[in-house]
Amino acid sequence: MNVLIWNEYRHEQQDEEVAKIYPKGIHEAIKEFLQTDDIHVETATLDETDHGITDEKLAKTDVMLWWGHLAHHEVADEIVNKVHQRVLEGMGLIVLHSGHFSKIFQKLMGTGCDLKWREADEKERMWVVNPSHPIVEGIGEYIEIEKEEMYGEHFDIPAPDELVLVSWFEGGEVFRSGCTYRRGHGKVFYFRPGHEGYPTYYHKDVQKVIQNAVRWAKPTTREFSSYGNAQPLEEIK
Ligand code: ZN
Repeated sequence: MNVLIWNEYRHEQQDEEVAKIYPKGIHEAIKEFLQTDDIHVETATLDETDHGITDEKLAKTDVMLWWGHLAHHEVADEIVNKVHQRVLEGMGLIVLHSGHFSKIFQKLMGTGCDLKWREADEKERMWVVNPSHPIVEGIGEYIEIEKEEMYGEHFDIPAPDELVLVSWFEGGEVFRSGCTYRRGHGKVFYFRPGHEGYPTYYHKDVQKVIQNAVRWAKPTTREFSSYGNAQPLEEIK
């Protein structure tokens, strides 16, 4: 299975505090816990040619992860359209944290994807609300993150096909933190935690959810359905 982790990779290069947490970038931190004998992981970042998303790489990617924040507008529409097409063809897509405002997520959702936010070093308790879902296999009743950025409802997304995780924040807000969607032949998972200023991607349960999500989002078929004018399978009387 081929996984491509796409990261904007700006905070880590511009902000010393973030660089201390993710010295090699968020993409490398995620790669470290995702790579196994049966999962080949590659990374791509915004400032590479074509944002590191070449046609060749995209064609062989089974599941793509997306982390972006500062520079969503710098992502070329042409690349977004190619990623979108691959999702419709069956590629899995896992959108992380501030990726809620990425062009690709907004295009797939068809809504504004806005939300409330606050940086106040507050506790997040993410409740499993769909305990039989493969994405939360091995997770207890909830995941507790000592300090995270708050994301609050209303989250302007379409009703998820499956709601897997709901967050509570110390300040009182709640948020739909784990949402699945089907778009065309592809599976999409939005996963909330992962603010750049906190070591969230070193949290074992957060890692577990992402590992599970990658396996869940794997294409179940590589054959694209045929559309358009069709010959009858039997003689029509
Ligand atoms: Zn954030």
